[in-house]
Amino acid sequence: MDYKDYYKTLGVARGASADEIKKAFRKLARKYHPDVNPGDKKSEEKFKEINEAYEVLSDPEKRRKYDTLGPNWQEQFGPSFSRSRSNAYTYNGGRTAGAPFDFDANSGFSDFFEALFGRGPQMSGMGGMRGASDIRRRAGDNIEQPVEVTLQEAYVGGSRTFNIQSTEVCPTCKGTGEVNNKTCSTCGGQGVLPRNKRIQVKIPAGVDNGSKIRVAGEGQPGIGGGPRGDLFLVISVKPDPTFERKGDDLNVDIDVELVKAMLGGEVPVPTPDGRKLILTIPPETQNNRVFRLAGKGMPRLRGEGNGNLYAHVKVVLPMHLSADERELFEKLARSRNVEVHS
Ligand SMILES: [Zn+2]
Repeated sequence: MDYKDYYKTLGVARGASADEIKKAFRKLARKYHPDVNPGDKKSEEKFKEINEAYEVLSDPEKRRKYDTLGPNWQEQFGPSFSRSRSNAYTYNGGRTAGAPFDFDANSGFSDFFEALFGRGPQMSGMGGMRGASDIRRRAGDNIEQPVEVTLQEAYVGGSRTFNIQSTEVCPTCKGTGEVNNKTCSTCGGQGVLPRNKRIQVKIPAGVDNGSKIRVAGEGQPGIGGGPRGDLFLVISVKPDPTFERKGDDLNVDIDVELVKAMLGGEVPVPTPDGRKLILTIPPETQNNRVFRLAGKGMPRLRGEGNGNLYAHVKVVLPMHLSADERELFEKLARSRNVEVHS
């Protein structure tokens, strides 16, 4: 079993960034794709190797493991492993390693790969789990786009139009970047063309920071007829000067005149959509008392109904007293045996 130089396979340096690796992979994958080279065994083998290299180098955990191994990998597995080809030595859950170095019919990956990472359902590509039949098709990458909404938008929901920038496979060269061994003039050899699209997206009521809205099929193009990836709008909600949000609940301060707090009455409570609810407070309502307006908070993104709206009473003391009013307060002070300046 030979050490596989995945970096060489993709033609990138060992220190290549995730982006460089992805670019190199996509370009090679298009060039050697079985659909582009029907019946060409060499291309198919090459395509498998590219896939495998990408499977490892695109996954940070696998890449780290592969990097630490290095070309002297056999030492780390012990000498018995290196003899395994002739000895039918078993490892990794009883799988026989005696098979000649070849691509396994189930995973499409080499023995080297399986010795390192095992096999089976933990292997997933960009399109999730796959068998030999769909190794040729790869779904396109997803795109994430941040979107900022106001609390009001999050409260009532709405609709937004976005310009989405992605790419599409060049129709002239089918993504290979070449036509008759010459650089494709349509895409300049890139294999892809920029794609700009205006799309209208519904913002569901109740979105919060980190909510993701999936727009199916508006991501990057797939390979070999694979589906386009998806677009995800990643929501952030602007802080609101009036309302404080905690999950599905809202908090709001309401100013209450001293006399109303003392005698009781009706107080308007705002909601994020601009409406005013009427809250009736009892006589002798204390400062900072909290009233719960059930079901008047944020709509629940998942599930039924709304959270609560909590109104926090802030008693406003009167200013600019008239002589009469001052007299009334003095009377009140005497009645309650409070010593005051007079
Ligand atoms: Zn082209």
